[in-house]
Amino acid sequence: MNNYEKLLEQAYKQVKSVSGTGERFETPKAVGKVQGKNTIITNFQQIAQTLRRPPEQLAKFLQRELATPGNITSAGLVLKARLPSQRVNDKIASYTKLLVLCPVCQKPDTEIKTEKNVKKKHCLACGASSPIKVNI
Ligand SMILES: [Zn+2]
Repeated sequence: MNNYEKLLEQAYKQVKSVSGTGERFETPKAVGKVQGKNTIITNFQQIAQTLRRPPEQLAKFLQRELATPGNITSAGLVLKARLPSQRVNDKIASYTKLLVLCPVCQKPDTEIKTEKNVKKKHCLACGASSPIKVNI
């Protein structure tokens, strides 16, 4: 096998591994606890990891959508308000839909690319490229 074939094989394996088993992707659910006037999303890092997005970006989105200031700490994302977990989960779901899931094949294997100053989700599973309809 020559180098080119090896490269192809490697690329193919990578594509296969990210396209997963074909099961429907489940949006991770926030585990939150209210402490005083704050809500702490304790599994925040895990959510960002599952969505494969920078935690800072997800935090910024949630803060804006929930109109609540917050910051990332070692305990998780601290939001400076008492928030019902349903509200937080709704926003995580919209983040996932807007910035993670491919609208064509519904898989989460996307990466964000900027083309001609337009941010796009590029799907590693089906190759679709779709514009992102939100400011991040
Ligand atoms: Zn796709």
